[in-house]
Amino acid sequence: MKNKTLIFNWKMNPLTAEEAVDLASASDYKNVVIAPPFIFLNEIGKLFKNAKLGAQDLYWEEKGAFTGEVSAKQLAEAGVSYAIIGHSERRHKMGETDGMTAKKVLAAIKNNLTAVLCIGETEQERAEGKTNQILERQLVNGLSLAKAEGILNDSNLLIAYEPVWAIGTGKAQTAEGAMETSAFIKSLLKKEIDMDIRVLYGGSVTSQNLGEFLGYNEISGALVGGASLKKDEVKKMAEIIEK
Ligand code: PEP
Repeated sequence: MKNKTLIFNWKMNPLTAEEAVDLASASDYKNVVIAPPFIFLNEIGKLFKNAKLGAQDLYWEEKGAFTGEVSAKQLAEAGVSYAIIGHSERRHKMGETDGMTAKKVLAAIKNNLTAVLCIGETEQERAEGKTNQILERQLVNGLSLAKAEGILNDSNLLIAYEPVWAIGTGKAQTAEGAMETSAFIKSLLKKEIDMDIRVLYGGSVTSQNLGEFLGYNEISGALVGGASLKKDEVKKMAEIIEK
């Protein structure tokens, strides 16, 4: 499958540098982005021949008194080229707001990182028929600052559609449902910034269902959590995008 991107979000895994190096070596494929915990970025970055380095988050200020944070500029200096922004775990467990995602998207792009803005509805929002409204709010607000500066383009921005109820649950969205929502997001992007931006799907993707999602033109790749920690799954998923 040509031009499909896989972003592997390792979250707070694995425990040791040794395990991280081992998993990264087994994941070094073209069109794959690996987002390890910050602590492993340097070591893993050195071994990649094909894969690209991603960050799971960033802070919008360049440097200074921001204990515990890592800036977009520091990430760029460390060889990172993609930054996940607004992941549902950050929104729902760490209180990240749309306003914060907007500052992060702006900082990422200003530092030559590709911003991967994650948007998605909760189970309750979906049950209440609010999915499209939530996606539009997260998208429009998250892009607002970068749009105002006129710096967005079709290579420095990716959107990851990640229904919250599908993340880490083993209950993936259907491929058709993900395609329809991706088409809706692409139409919002067209209206908002007049660009054809690539949309990825994320939420319980495995080697078993990846091919179905990627079969649709509207879905340009996948953001993968749990399955990206298993070497046999990584190999099978890489084979699917290499075909
Ligand atoms: C994620 O971390 O964004 C994700 C989609 O996780 P999982 O693949 O485990 O559902």
